[in-house]
Amino acid sequence: MKIVDKRNALLRSQTSSYRRRPRSTIRNIAIHHSATTSGSAEAFARYHVNELGWPGIGYHYVVDRNGQISHCHDIEVVSYHVGNSNRYAIGICMVGDFRTQTLTKEQRQATLRLTRKLMDDLAISVDNVWGHDEFPGYAWKPCPSINMQNFRNRLTRRGGSYEEIEVDKSFTNDQQQRTILSIGDQGSDVKEIQQRLDELGFNPGPLDGIYGSQTEDAVIRFQRTAAIKVDGVVGPQTREQLDRFEHKDERELASPTDEPDENSTMYEEESRRLLRLLRPMMRGEDVREVQEKVGAVPDGLYGPETERRVQAFQRDQNILVDGIVGPQTWRALDRISENGVGYERLLSIQSPYMRGQDIRRVQRELGITADGLFGPQTETAVRDFQRAEGITVDGIVGPQTWARLFQ
Ligand SMILES: [Zn+2]
Repeated sequence: MKIVDKRNALLRSQTSSYRRRPRSTIRNIAIHHSATTSGSAEAFARYHVNELGWPGIGYHYVVDRNGQISHCHDIEVVSYHVGNSNRYAIGICMVGDFRTQTLTKEQRQATLRLTRKLMDDLAISVDNVWGHDEFPGYAWKPCPSINMQNFRNRLTRRGGSYEEIEVDKSFTNDQQQRTILSIGDQGSDVKEIQQRLDELGFNPGPLDGIYGSQTEDAVIRFQRTAAIKVDGVVGPQTREQLDRFEHKDERELASPTDEPDENSTMYEEESRRLLRLLRPMMRGEDVREVQEKVGAVPDGLYGPETERRVQAFQRDQNILVDGIVGPQTWRALDRISENGVGYERLLSIQSPYMRGQDIRRVQRELGITADGLFGPQTETAVRDFQRAEGITVDGIVGPQTWARLFQ
Protein backbone atom coordinates (compact mmCIF):
# COMPACT_ATOMS: atom_id res chain seq x y z
CA MET A 1 0.00 0.00 0.00
CA LYS A 2 1.68 3.10 -1.20
CA ILE A 3 0.94 6.67 -2.16
CA VAL A 4 3.05 8.02 -4.99
CA ASP A 5 3.43 11.76 -5.06
CA LYS A 6 2.76 12.91 -8.63
CA ARG A 7 1.75 16.46 -7.77
CA ASN A 8 4.59 17.91 -9.78
CA ALA A 9 4.87 15.12 -12.31
CA LEU A 10 1.62 15.22 -14.26
CA LEU A 11 0.83 17.20 -17.37
CA ARG A 12 -0.53 20.65 -16.65
CA SER A 13 -1.88 23.46 -18.80
CA GLN A 14 0.61 26.14 -19.76
CA THR A 15 -2.01 28.83 -19.75
CA SER A 16 -4.34 28.19 -16.85
CA SER A 17 -4.25 26.81 -13.35
CA TYR A 18 -6.76 25.66 -10.78
CA ARG A 19 -7.72 27.87 -7.88
CA ARG A 20 -6.99 26.99 -4.29
CA ARG A 21 -9.23 26.87 -1.24
CA PRO A 22 -8.70 26.82 2.47
CA ARG A 23 -8.96 23.33 3.97
CA SER A 24 -11.96 24.42 5.97
CA THR A 25 -13.98 24.62 2.75
CA ILE A 26 -13.69 20.89 2.13
CA ARG A 27 -16.88 19.03 3.05
CA ASN A 28 -17.07 15.97 0.83
CA ILE A 29 -15.06 13.14 -0.56
CA ALA A 30 -16.22 12.26 -4.08
CA ILE A 31 -15.74 8.73 -5.39
CA HIS A 32 -15.43 8.24 -9.15
CA HIS A 33 -14.59 5.49 -11.54
CA SER A 34 -12.66 6.35 -14.67
CA ALA A 35 -15.29 4.72 -16.92
CA THR A 36 -12.35 3.30 -18.87
CA THR A 37 -11.20 -0.30 -18.54
CA SER A 38 -7.61 0.81 -18.05
CA GLY A 39 -5.78 4.08 -17.43
CA SER A 40 -3.50 5.96 -15.09
CA ALA A 41 -3.07 9.36 -13.51
CA GLU A 42 -0.74 10.25 -16.40
CA ALA A 43 -3.27 9.24 -19.03
CA PHE A 44 -6.14 11.09 -17.34
CA ALA A 45 -3.99 14.20 -16.95
CA ARG A 46 -3.22 14.14 -20.68
CA TYR A 47 -6.89 13.71 -21.52
CA HIS A 48 -8.08 16.44 -19.19
CA VAL A 49 -5.44 18.94 -20.33
CA ASN A 50 -5.12 18.16 -24.03
CA GLU A 51 -8.66 17.11 -24.90
CA LEU A 52 -10.80 18.99 -22.41
CA GLY A 53 -8.57 22.04 -21.98
CA TRP A 54 -8.56 21.87 -18.20
CA PRO A 55 -5.74 23.31 -16.06
CA GLY A 56 -4.70 19.82 -14.93
CA ILE A 57 -6.01 16.38 -14.05
CA GLY A 58 -9.50 16.52 -12.53
CA TYR A 59 -8.85 14.19 -9.60
CA HIS A 60 -6.88 14.62 -6.40
CA TYR A 61 -6.14 10.90 -6.20
CA VAL A 62 -6.18 8.04 -8.69
CA VAL A 63 -6.28 4.45 -7.45
CA ASP A 64 -4.92 1.91 -9.95
CA ARG A 65 -6.28 -1.61 -10.40
CA ASN A 66 -3.30 -2.93 -8.41
CA GLY A 67 -4.08 -0.64 -5.48
CA GLN A 68 -1.37 1.92 -6.06
CA ILE A 69 -2.48 5.44 -5.17
CA SER A 70 -1.31 8.46 -7.15
CA HIS A 71 -1.49 11.76 -5.34
CA CYS A 72 -2.22 14.30 -8.08
CA HIS A 73 -3.08 17.59 -6.34
CA ASP A 74 -2.82 19.22 -2.95
CA ILE A 75 -6.24 18.86 -1.41
CA GLU A 76 -6.48 22.66 -1.42
CA VAL A 77 -6.62 22.61 -5.22
CA VAL A 78 -10.12 23.13 -6.62
CA SER A 79 -9.96 20.75 -9.58
CA TYR A 80 -12.85 19.79 -11.85
CA HIS A 81 -14.79 16.62 -11.11
CA VAL A 82 -18.20 17.39 -9.61
CA GLY A 83 -19.34 20.66 -11.21
CA ASN A 84 -20.86 23.08 -8.74
CA SER A 85 -19.53 21.04 -5.85
CA ASN A 86 -15.88 21.17 -6.97
CA ARG A 87 -15.08 23.77 -4.39
CA TYR A 88 -16.18 21.53 -1.53
CA ALA A 89 -14.98 18.13 -2.64
CA ILE A 90 -11.89 15.99 -2.94
CA GLY A 91 -11.97 13.66 -5.95
CA ILE A 92 -10.80 10.06 -5.78
CA CYS A 93 -10.92 8.15 -9.05
CA MET A 94 -10.65 4.37 -9.23
CA VAL A 95 -9.36 3.10 -12.55
CA GLY A 96 -11.96 0.89 -14.18
CA ASP A 97 -15.37 0.87 -15.79
CA PHE A 98 -17.56 -0.48 -13.03
CA ARG A 99 -20.58 -0.69 -15.27
CA THR A 100 -18.91 -3.82 -16.64
CA GLN A 101 -15.91 -4.50 -14.38
CA THR A 102 -15.63 -4.94 -10.65
CA LEU A 103 -13.02 -3.31 -8.49
CA THR A 104 -10.05 -5.43 -7.53
CA LYS A 105 -9.53 -6.37 -3.90
CA GLU A 106 -6.33 -4.29 -3.76
CA GLN A 107 -8.10 -1.34 -5.27
CA ARG A 108 -10.99 -1.51 -2.83
CA GLN A 109 -8.64 -1.79 0.15
CA ALA A 110 -6.50 1.09 -1.01
CA THR A 111 -9.49 3.32 -1.72
CA LEU A 112 -11.04 2.56 1.65
CA ARG A 113 -7.81 3.30 3.48
CA LEU A 114 -7.20 6.50 1.60
CA THR A 115 -10.76 7.66 2.21
CA ARG A 116 -10.50 6.92 5.94
CA LYS A 117 -7.24 8.80 6.13
CA LEU A 118 -8.80 11.86 4.48
CA MET A 119 -11.88 11.60 6.69
CA ASP A 120 -9.63 11.64 9.75
CA ASP A 121 -7.40 14.45 8.55
CA LEU A 122 -10.27 16.69 7.57
CA ALA A 123 -12.92 15.60 10.06
CA ILE A 124 -15.29 14.50 7.31
CA SER A 125 -18.04 12.12 8.39
CA VAL A 126 -18.92 8.96 6.51
CA ASP A 127 -22.21 10.54 5.49
CA ASN A 128 -20.25 13.03 3.44
CA VAL A 129 -18.46 10.43 1.37
CA TRP A 130 -20.50 10.45 -1.81
CA GLY A 131 -20.44 8.78 -5.18
CA HIS A 132 -20.29 11.22 -8.07
CA ASP A 133 -23.94 10.47 -8.83
CA GLU A 134 -24.93 11.42 -5.27
CA PHE A 135 -23.85 15.03 -5.77
CA PRO A 136 -26.57 17.57 -6.65
CA GLY A 137 -27.40 17.43 -10.34
CA TYR A 138 -25.63 14.18 -11.09
CA ALA A 139 -28.26 11.51 -10.49
CA TRP A 140 -28.14 10.77 -14.22
CA LYS A 141 -24.44 9.99 -14.26
CA PRO A 142 -23.30 6.36 -14.11
CA CYS A 143 -20.38 7.14 -11.81
CA PRO A 144 -18.91 5.46 -9.82
CA SER A 145 -21.27 2.55 -10.55
CA ILE A 146 -20.53 0.84 -7.26
CA ASN A 147 -22.85 0.40 -4.29
CA MET A 148 -21.98 3.48 -2.25
CA GLN A 149 -23.98 2.40 0.78
CA ASN A 150 -21.92 -0.75 0.87
CA PHE A 151 -18.74 1.31 0.47
CA ARG A 152 -19.75 3.57 3.36
CA ASN A 153 -20.55 0.56 5.52
CA ARG A 154 -17.07 -0.76 4.92
CA LEU A 155 -15.62 2.63 5.86
CA THR A 156 -17.20 2.48 9.27
CA ARG A 157 -16.01 -1.09 9.83
CA ARG A 158 -12.57 -0.08 10.92
CA GLY A 159 -10.17 -2.85 10.03
CA GLY A 160 -6.89 -2.39 11.90
CA SER A 161 -4.85 -2.30 8.75
CA TYR A 162 -5.32 1.27 7.73
CA GLU A 163 -2.46 2.55 9.85
CA GLU A 164 -0.07 0.73 7.59
CA ILE A 165 -0.66 3.38 4.97
CA GLU A 166 2.64 4.73 3.76
CA VAL A 167 2.29 8.43 3.34
CA ASP A 168 4.52 10.71 1.39
CA LYS A 169 6.21 13.25 3.62
CA SER A 170 4.30 16.30 2.66
CA PHE A 171 0.94 14.55 2.76
CA THR A 172 -0.16 15.85 6.12
CA ASN A 173 1.34 19.26 5.50
CA ASP A 174 1.33 20.23 9.16
CA GLN A 175 4.28 22.49 8.64
CA GLN A 176 4.04 25.74 10.45
CA GLN A 177 2.57 28.68 8.58
CA ARG A 178 4.33 31.93 9.41
CA THR A 179 2.11 34.96 9.87
CA ILE A 180 4.42 37.44 8.17
CA LEU A 181 6.40 36.69 5.02
CA SER A 182 8.77 39.06 3.30
CA ILE A 183 11.74 39.17 0.96
CA GLY A 184 14.41 36.63 1.83
CA ASP A 185 12.00 34.09 3.38
CA GLN A 186 11.94 30.53 2.10
CA GLY A 187 9.68 27.56 2.62
CA SER A 188 6.46 25.83 1.68
CA ASP A 189 4.42 28.72 3.06
CA VAL A 190 6.21 31.05 0.63
CA LYS A 191 5.50 28.61 -2.16
CA GLU A 192 1.84 28.54 -1.23
CA ILE A 193 1.65 32.33 -1.48
CA GLN A 194 3.44 32.20 -4.84
CA GLN A 195 0.94 29.65 -6.13
CA ARG A 196 -1.97 31.76 -5.00
CA LEU A 197 -0.56 34.90 -6.60
CA ASP A 198 0.14 32.94 -9.74
CA GLU A 199 -3.41 31.60 -9.87
CA LEU A 200 -4.76 35.11 -9.51
CA GLY A 201 -2.63 36.22 -12.45
CA PHE A 202 0.01 38.23 -10.58
CA ASN A 203 3.00 36.24 -11.91
CA PRO A 204 5.39 35.95 -8.97
CA GLY A 205 8.09 34.26 -11.09
CA PRO A 206 9.15 30.66 -10.45
CA LEU A 207 7.06 28.87 -7.80
CA ASP A 208 10.17 27.89 -5.89
CA GLY A 209 9.37 28.78 -2.28
CA ILE A 210 11.90 31.61 -2.31
CA TYR A 211 10.59 35.11 -1.58
CA GLY A 212 12.70 37.03 -4.07
CA SER A 213 12.23 40.34 -5.83
CA GLN A 214 9.76 38.93 -8.37
CA THR A 215 7.58 37.58 -5.58
CA GLU A 216 7.81 40.88 -3.76
CA ASP A 217 6.86 42.69 -6.94
CA ALA A 218 3.83 40.42 -7.37
CA VAL A 219 2.78 41.10 -3.78
CA ILE A 220 3.10 44.84 -4.39
CA ARG A 221 0.97 44.63 -7.52
CA PHE A 222 -1.60 42.54 -5.70
CA GLN A 223 -1.74 44.99 -2.78
CA ARG A 224 -2.22 47.86 -5.20
CA THR A 225 -5.09 46.00 -6.90
CA ALA A 226 -6.66 45.16 -3.55
CA ALA A 227 -6.27 48.79 -2.47
CA ILE A 228 -4.50 47.94 0.78
CA LYS A 229 -1.20 49.11 2.23
CA VAL A 230 1.54 48.57 -0.37
CA ASP A 231 4.65 47.24 1.36
CA GLY A 232 5.49 44.00 -0.46
CA VAL A 233 5.08 42.05 2.79
CA VAL A 234 2.49 39.29 3.24
CA GLY A 235 0.71 39.81 6.54
CA PRO A 236 -2.82 39.17 7.80
CA GLN A 237 -4.37 41.90 5.67
CA THR A 238 -2.81 40.62 2.46
CA ARG A 239 -3.88 37.06 3.30
CA GLU A 240 -7.41 38.22 3.94
CA GLN A 241 -7.48 39.95 0.56
CA LEU A 242 -6.05 36.86 -1.15
CA ASP A 243 -8.93 34.84 0.31
CA ARG A 244 -11.41 37.44 -0.83
CA PHE A 245 -10.05 37.56 -4.39
CA GLU A 246 -10.02 33.81 -4.67
CA HIS A 247 -13.65 33.55 -3.73
CA LYS A 248 -14.86 36.63 -5.50
CA ASP A 249 -16.56 34.86 -8.33
CA GLU A 250 -17.89 31.52 -7.24
CA ARG A 251 -19.90 31.13 -10.38
CA GLU A 252 -16.71 30.58 -12.29
CA LEU A 253 -16.04 27.48 -10.27
CA ALA A 254 -19.20 25.89 -11.54
CA SER A 255 -17.79 24.62 -14.78
CA PRO A 256 -16.53 22.44 -16.25
CA THR A 257 -17.05 19.17 -14.45
CA ASP A 258 -15.26 15.88 -14.65
CA GLU A 259 -16.77 15.27 -18.01
CA PRO A 260 -18.31 18.17 -19.88
CA ASP A 261 -21.96 18.28 -18.98
CA GLU A 262 -24.71 20.78 -18.95
CA ASN A 263 -26.03 20.27 -15.47
CA SER A 264 -24.21 23.22 -14.03
CA THR A 265 -26.10 26.34 -13.08
CA MET A 266 -23.52 28.49 -14.77
CA TYR A 267 -25.67 29.36 -17.73
CA GLU A 268 -28.91 30.42 -16.15
CA GLU A 269 -30.05 32.86 -18.75
CA GLU A 270 -31.46 35.47 -16.45
CA SER A 271 -28.27 36.04 -14.58
CA ARG A 272 -25.61 36.25 -17.22
CA ARG A 273 -22.38 37.71 -16.10
CA LEU A 274 -20.98 41.02 -17.06
CA LEU A 275 -17.88 40.11 -19.04
CA ARG A 276 -14.89 42.39 -19.36
CA LEU A 277 -11.13 42.50 -19.41
CA LEU A 278 -9.97 41.97 -15.86
CA ARG A 279 -6.78 40.80 -14.25
CA PRO A 280 -6.87 37.89 -13.61
CA MET A 281 -8.85 37.27 -16.75
CA MET A 282 -12.43 36.09 -16.53
CA ARG A 283 -12.94 32.60 -17.81
CA GLY A 284 -15.83 30.33 -18.61
CA GLU A 285 -18.24 28.97 -21.16
CA ASP A 286 -19.96 32.33 -21.41
CA VAL A 287 -16.65 33.91 -22.44
CA ARG A 288 -16.26 31.19 -25.05
CA GLU A 289 -19.75 31.89 -26.34
CA VAL A 290 -18.92 35.56 -26.79
CA GLN A 291 -15.64 34.67 -28.51
CA GLU A 292 -17.38 32.38 -30.97
CA LYS A 293 -19.79 35.13 -31.87
CA VAL A 294 -17.32 37.98 -32.23
CA GLY A 295 -14.72 35.87 -34.04
CA ALA A 296 -12.05 35.71 -31.34
CA VAL A 297 -10.10 32.53 -30.57
CA PRO A 298 -12.53 30.57 -28.35
CA ASP A 299 -10.21 29.78 -25.47
CA GLY A 300 -12.68 30.79 -22.77
CA LEU A 301 -10.44 33.56 -21.42
CA TYR A 302 -11.49 37.19 -21.70
CA GLY A 303 -8.19 38.73 -22.79
CA PRO A 304 -7.17 41.83 -24.76
CA GLU A 305 -7.94 40.25 -28.13
CA THR A 306 -11.46 39.37 -27.04
CA GLU A 307 -11.93 42.91 -25.78
CA ARG A 308 -10.86 44.32 -29.14
CA ARG A 309 -13.25 42.01 -30.99
CA VAL A 310 -16.09 42.95 -28.67
CA GLN A 311 -15.39 46.63 -29.33
CA ALA A 312 -15.44 46.01 -33.09
CA PHE A 313 -18.72 44.13 -32.69
CA GLN A 314 -20.21 46.98 -30.66
CA ARG A 315 -19.11 49.46 -33.31
CA ASP A 316 -20.82 47.36 -36.01
CA GLN A 317 -23.98 47.13 -33.95
CA ASN A 318 -24.09 50.84 -33.21
CA ILE A 319 -24.12 50.33 -29.49
CA LEU A 320 -21.87 51.79 -26.80
CA VAL A 321 -18.26 50.80 -27.54
CA ASP A 322 -16.77 49.95 -24.17
CA GLY A 323 -15.44 46.40 -24.65
CA ILE A 324 -17.72 45.20 -21.86
CA VAL A 325 -20.36 42.53 -22.44
CA GLY A 326 -23.34 43.82 -20.45
CA PRO A 327 -27.07 43.38 -21.01
CA GLN A 328 -27.17 45.47 -24.20
CA THR A 329 -24.26 43.64 -25.79
CA TRP A 330 -25.64 40.27 -24.70
CA ARG A 331 -28.92 41.10 -26.42
CA ALA A 332 -27.08 42.09 -29.59
CA LEU A 333 -25.09 38.85 -29.44
CA ASP A 334 -28.29 36.84 -28.98
CA ARG A 335 -29.84 38.42 -32.06
CA ILE A 336 -26.85 37.21 -34.07
CA SER A 337 -27.22 33.63 -32.98
CA GLU A 338 -30.97 33.57 -33.54
CA ASN A 339 -30.75 34.66 -37.13
CA GLY A 340 -27.28 33.66 -38.14
CA VAL A 341 -27.10 29.92 -37.73
CA GLY A 342 -28.76 27.50 -40.12
CA TYR A 343 -28.59 23.75 -40.44
CA GLU A 344 -24.96 22.78 -40.86
CA ARG A 345 -24.46 19.25 -39.61
CA LEU A 346 -26.01 16.25 -37.92
CA LEU A 347 -26.16 16.89 -34.17
CA SER A 348 -26.04 13.97 -31.76
CA ILE A 349 -24.58 12.87 -28.47
CA GLN A 350 -20.91 12.06 -28.88
CA SER A 351 -17.84 11.80 -26.73
CA PRO A 352 -16.53 14.44 -26.23
CA TYR A 353 -19.77 16.35 -26.62
CA MET A 354 -20.35 18.34 -29.80
CA ARG A 355 -20.43 22.07 -29.22
CA GLY A 356 -21.44 25.12 -31.20
CA GLN A 357 -23.85 27.89 -32.00
CA ASP A 358 -26.19 25.55 -33.84
CA ILE A 359 -26.56 23.49 -30.65
CA ARG A 360 -27.26 26.64 -28.67
CA ARG A 361 -29.97 27.57 -31.10
CA VAL A 362 -31.57 24.12 -30.83
CA GLN A 363 -31.40 24.30 -27.03
CA ARG A 364 -33.07 27.71 -26.95
CA GLU A 365 -35.82 26.42 -29.18
CA LEU A 366 -36.29 23.38 -26.93
CA GLY A 367 -36.42 25.62 -23.88
CA ILE A 368 -33.46 24.02 -22.10
CA THR A 369 -30.18 25.44 -20.84
CA ALA A 370 -28.39 26.91 -23.84
CA ASP A 371 -24.79 26.03 -23.13
CA GLY A 372 -23.95 24.92 -26.66
CA LEU A 373 -22.99 21.38 -25.60
CA PHE A 374 -24.93 18.40 -26.91
CA GLY A 375 -25.17 16.28 -23.75
CA PRO A 376 -27.74 13.87 -22.28
CA GLN A 377 -30.18 16.61 -21.33
CA THR A 378 -30.21 17.89 -24.89
CA GLU A 379 -30.66 14.40 -26.26
CA THR A 380 -33.63 13.77 -23.97
CA ALA A 381 -35.22 17.06 -24.98
CA VAL A 382 -34.71 16.23 -28.67
CA ARG A 383 -36.36 12.83 -28.16
CA ASP A 384 -39.30 14.42 -26.37
CA PHE A 385 -39.66 16.90 -29.17
CA GLN A 386 -39.51 14.19 -31.84
CA ARG A 387 -42.09 12.13 -29.99
CA ALA A 388 -44.41 15.13 -29.75
CA GLU A 389 -43.96 15.84 -33.46
CA GLY A 390 -44.60 12.24 -34.45
CA ILE A 391 -41.29 11.85 -36.29
CA THR A 392 -38.55 9.25 -35.84
CA VAL A 393 -37.40 9.32 -32.21
CA ASP A 394 -33.61 8.92 -32.35
CA GLY A 395 -32.33 11.89 -30.31
CA ILE A 396 -30.42 13.12 -33.38
CA VAL A 397 -30.99 16.51 -34.97
CA GLY A 398 -30.87 15.92 -38.72
CA PRO A 399 -32.48 17.99 -41.47
CA GLN A 400 -36.00 16.76 -40.63
CA THR A 401 -35.81 17.56 -36.92
CA TRP A 402 -34.12 20.88 -37.66
CA ALA A 403 -36.88 21.83 -40.07
CA ARG A 404 -39.56 20.92 -37.51
CA LEU A 405 -37.80 22.97 -34.86
CA PHE A 406 -37.49 26.11 -36.92
CA GLN A 407 -40.34 25.88 -39.43
ZN1 LIG B 1 -17.21 10.83 -11.90
